[in-house]
Amino acid sequence: MKNYPVEKNQEIEVEILDLSHEGNGIAKVDGYLLFIENTLPKEKIVAKVLKVGNKFGFAKAIKFLETSPDRQELPNEALLRTGIAPLSHLSYDKQLVFKQQQVENVLTKIAKLNVPVLPPIGMEQPFGYRNKAQIPVQKIHGELTTGFYRKNSHTLVPIEDFYIQDPQIDQAIIKIRNILQRFNVKAYNEEAHEGFLRHIVVRRGHHSGEMMVVLVTRKPKFFKGEEIATVIHDEIPEVVSVIQNINEEKTNVILGEFGRVLYGKETIEDQLLGKTFQISAKSFYQVNTEMTEVLYQKAFEMAALQPDDVVVDAYAGIGTIGISLADKVSEVLGMEVIPEAVNDAKANAKRNGVENVHYFVGKAEKIMPQWLREGIQPTVVFVDPPRKGLDASFIETTAAVSPERIIYISCNPATLARDLALFSEQGYETKQVQPVDLFPQTTHVECVVLLQRQ
Ligand code: SAH
Repeated sequence: MKNYPVEKNQEIEVEILDLSHEGNGIAKVDGYLLFIENTLPKEKIVAKVLKVGNKFGFAKAIKFLETSPDRQELPNEALLRTGIAPLSHLSYDKQLVFKQQQVENVLTKIAKLNVPVLPPIGMEQPFGYRNKAQIPVQKIHGELTTGFYRKNSHTLVPIEDFYIQDPQIDQAIIKIRNILQRFNVKAYNEEAHEGFLRHIVVRRGHHSGEMMVVLVTRKPKFFKGEEIATVIHDEIPEVVSVIQNINEEKTNVILGEFGRVLYGKETIEDQLLGKTFQISAKSFYQVNTEMTEVLYQKAFEMAALQPDDVVVDAYAGIGTIGISLADKVSEVLGMEVIPEAVNDAKANAKRNGVENVHYFVGKAEKIMPQWLREGIQPTVVFVDPPRKGLDASFIETTAAVSPERIIYISCNPATLARDLALFSEQGYETKQVQPVDLFPQTTHVECVVLLQRQ
């Protein structure tokens, strides 16, 4: 047995030194790190040790001796326990400072870049912003219960007010849950891999108000599925689409491959920067519409778009970036790996009367080399990849295509930093880094970055 300076259940007075990138306070006992939820730097607390690990441990604050002036009143402790809103105890202006520092840290450490990070653009009302909810259901005390998993576990914490979600979505989830309960729909039991309903997914157009409800089930056969869907529409008239999605696997991935319409349409609509977009259940759509509009405008401004520009919209989703900027440039070429999303992108171009955009299904790193061979010469490339960032080969091909400017929209500063370093080796200099806060109360950071060919 190794000796640690603390032991489980010990109560100990500590001072918080720092905030981890997950939003936990960090204290040190004889060099041993303790992570403590709901604490902030400079706070003095009595901590109770919960878990002693090899390299670090976890504790909880049981008494506050000195609190930080940066603390804000916690809307609900469950938001920390579930990780829904891990910064909701920190005042919003300090959340923005925290995010700026996170980006600065990785850019200097990983990318060795010496470029100033602009102060993040924040939200005026930093809550109730999420246009999408993915809510697990479980049977608790015989009732179909909705909420969220406790961090690092699959124990459901019942929650009705999710704080960062559109309140109309919160209301809808309660109504849907009650309808399902009335129809005696069984909750999925993960351990036994039995039962029926796994998740309730709700999306609501921020501008349109249109709602889509996706009921994720373990089996295809849905007793009274259509009837239930109709009742959902009757009780929540904004719901114009109810989809059953079937996920038979033992997996943490929420959506399965196949879905079918139980009520109404296959897509909902929303507006972004004055254009209308249809969105399928499986398509990506930024969860914070208000700040997405700010983000895109910033991105277009950085791109300094000219009428003869040929633009690539890589990782295009439903084509929101390319279609929004199409009027300003000569042509847009986009690619995206999910066929349903490309379908949406094509329909969206048509529906907005935009004729100079072309979307293709495929991986960016596969399609870019084809375009290089075909001699296509984009002047501006937008990339907006998922958390894992860009494929190294994509970076090389993009550099070979040699656009003047690259606009990198990133939801993960660590992979952004890695990729900026690779771009720098290929002769692209990072000019501007602008965080935009798409995810208030959480530790997530979105950035838009301008790269210029040397
Ligand atoms: N630009 C869009 C979508 C960004 S999300 C918007 O602003 O809404 C990232 C998108 O990249 C997702 O739609 C995802 O399906 C897609 N994607 C993931 N890996 C990809 C790859 N290798 N090549 C192309 N698209 C990919």
